[in-house]
Parts: sequence; C-alpha cells; structure tokens
Amino acid sequence: MKKLQIPTGQTTGRLVCPECSNDKDFFEIADDVIVTSHYVQNDDGSFTPEESDTEILGEIRLYCGSCNADVTHFHKYFLEMIF
Ligand SMILES: [Zn+2]
Repeated sequence: MKKLQIPTGQTTGRLVCPECSNDKDFFEIADDVIVTSHYVQNDDGSFTPEESDTEILGEIRLYCGSCNADVTHFHKYFLEMIF
C-alpha cells in the first residue's frame, strides 16, 4: 500500500482560518452548477450511471468549516493543495 508522506510540525504553508484558527475543516460552495449525468438503461429496467459532468457557471466560495468565515481569498491556494 502506498502511503502519503505528510510533513508534521510544519506551521507555514497551511491554510488557517483568520477568525477561529481552524486549519482542519473547510467547505466549498459553488453557485449556478449544472450537473449532467448520463445513464444507461439495462435489460431489467434498472439504470447504470455512466458519467457525469459538472459545469460551474457561478462563483466558487470557500468557507471555514468551524466558524463559517468566508476564506475565499485562500481558494486558489486551496485548489493547488488538493491531491
Ligand atoms: Zn473559522
């Protein structure tokens, strides 16, 4: 099994909520999202999802998961740090 190496004891380069110092939970909200899902109907009448496409037309905002502060200005950094 492959294990990701996560540096410990590192205090720089982490996203930290300026309001409550939360550095663990964050959530992202996207406006005006169009989700297109493709289904294939099977012989027995059931459906199997094939693929789905998400198109975001509006703004994407990032919030602190602890105090709900708007931390959208970190969003670009946030995207770069998703592995
Ligand atoms: Zn917060």
